[in-house]
Amino acid sequence: MARIRLLSPLTVNRIAAGEVIERPAAAVKELVENALDAGATRLEILLSQGGIARIEVLDNGCGIPRDELALAITRHATSKLEDDALVRIATLGFRGEALPSIGAAARLTLTSRPVGQDCAYTVQVAGGDVSAITPAAGLPGTRAIVEDLFYATPARRKFLRSPRAEAEAAERAVWRLALSAPATAFRLVSDDRVLFDLPAQDEPARIAALFGRDTAANLLPIEAANGPIRLTGLAGPAALSRATTALQSFVVNHRPVLDPLLRMALRLAYRDVIPAGRHPVAALRLDLPDEALDVNVHPAKTELRFADANAIRGLVIGALTRLLERPVSLANAPPARPALSLLSSAPPSYFPSAPRPAQRGFAEAELMVLEPTARQLPASLHEPTQNHPLGAPVAQILDTYILAVAADGALVIIDQHAAHERLTEERLRAEFLAGAVATQPLLVPVVVDLPQLDAGRLAAEAPALRRLGLDIEPFGPGAILVRGLPAALKNPDAASLIRDLAEEFAEADTPIALEAKLDSALARLACHRSIRAGRRLSEPEMSALLRDMEATPRAATCSHGRPTFLKLTRAELEKLFGRRGI
Ligand code: ADP
Ligand code: MG
Repeated sequence: MARIRLLSPLTVNRIAAGEVIERPAAAVKELVENALDAGATRLEILLSQGGIARIEVLDNGCGIPRDELALAITRHATSKLEDDALVRIATLGFRGEALPSIGAAARLTLTSRPVGQDCAYTVQVAGGDVSAITPAAGLPGTRAIVEDLFYATPARRKFLRSPRAEAEAAERAVWRLALSAPATAFRLVSDDRVLFDLPAQDEPARIAALFGRDTAANLLPIEAANGPIRLTGLAGPAALSRATTALQSFVVNHRPVLDPLLRMALRLAYRDVIPAGRHPVAALRLDLPDEALDVNVHPAKTELRFADANAIRGLVIGALTRLLERPVSLANAPPARPALSLLSSAPPSYFPSAPRPAQRGFAEAELMVLEPTARQLPASLHEPTQNHPLGAPVAQILDTYILAVAADGALVIIDQHAAHERLTEERLRAEFLAGAVATQPLLVPVVVDLPQLDAGRLAAEAPALRRLGLDIEPFGPGAILVRGLPAALKNPDAASLIRDLAEEFAEADTPIALEAKLDSALARLACHRSIRAGRRLSEPEMSALLRDMEATPRAATCSHGRPTFLKLTRAELEKLFGRRGI
């Protein structure tokens, strides 16, 4: 065995860099945190190639005096810890690790000018080598430039994802920080695209800008306290769920966190009111005495330890549960989404006085009422044949399920919505593969408000989205102008479709190729053209649906993996009734 020796400071910094700066987004986060700790009221973040090539963070904060510049880039040197007890940490930073770690892994240029100092001074660290400190031009505040991240640590460089995926992760980090500090103006530019340009504003305005105005308008205020612990913020009603957790933000004592306890509490509160696989929308802020909180859990400081975890959990779940019990005014109800209407409890009952959806094909007078929610089709029924494994429709129940009888006597129950969703998806996919998704131009283009980040991302993909039949263009920083939609969808709701698509493209941690992304976007699009559960179908419509299913690949499940039909064979029926094995 080799002898034990102390590691060199450079090696120590590189090891720390592995923990603190694990990707460009982490460097961005550390630099923005420094700017916020310095009291900046305005900051600008510029990224090239997702921050891999270059990150620049410019602030108007207190600056670093010339004689402290060398210390700033020294490990374990910080201006933020007043005593060594590590309690009452009110700043975002406190470990004195970020700048030396960045300097060990990349080329860091730190230029700073405190108010009152006649010029700025600058220092460079590259792969751990520190330059002389020299005068430089600069306004009061600090400018940190990070170039060639991980050039000095090739092992780490190999783990970088595509510039695009890294840019998205960095955007997410800034998104969270911007929510935590609404009084600070934020400008984020990624490869010359302005992703956000937010003025100093109050918290609701900041949430509206970053969650999207339409979404924010549906959020409900939340306010609760337990002793010195205060919970405030906005949270969505049950009907406002999302496909991802992207629209969830937690801020604890001004610190944006991804804390598992808070995420779990949010999930539990909504567990029974939103469908599995969907996620609530919430911007929550907790304020509690600094000493009730340990932020020194992880080098990245995104997780916390609460002195009284149960109190926090109880407060969050309790407050959200009360919010969800509140009757939601109609004005607040978002447009019904197919995914939700699947779960909606009572379909319209079949009484002559009940309002009825438009009906094609069979006249309603021909339909025979068996009981309020089931009906039998007229005798004109086709005989089921061997070629049709899903059989011939005999009735529709709850305006949601089709009952069919197969030639061998099996009873088939089809979920019309799930089935149709799959058919639409496969049809769109076939068109897409053939390069021929037809676009239906809108008579009147629709403007859809989105979070700036999402709008920018969609706008950047406009040429690719054309292949999905979407004709869109940017419309200011936080909106998309929709000129045309896939014809196969037959007039879907443009706003909810665009929002769903934005989410599909925002999956920050799936750096899959564009082609794959477009393909998975097809499934999202398909949800927007589906026979809603609760729509009455004529007999020819039902037959057509079954025949289409038989001819369509993967028709046994919907795009979400749920079954589209259940089949009870004669043997199974006999077993259920105890006729078998007697
Ligand atoms: P920490 O933030 O944990 O103290 P850092 O390595 O991030 O450690 O920064 C070291 C020190 O450099 C900070 O304590 C602060 O005094 C100074 N500093 C860094 N960035 C800025 C900035 N943007 N404005 C003012 N001071 C800064
Ligand atoms: Mg710091």
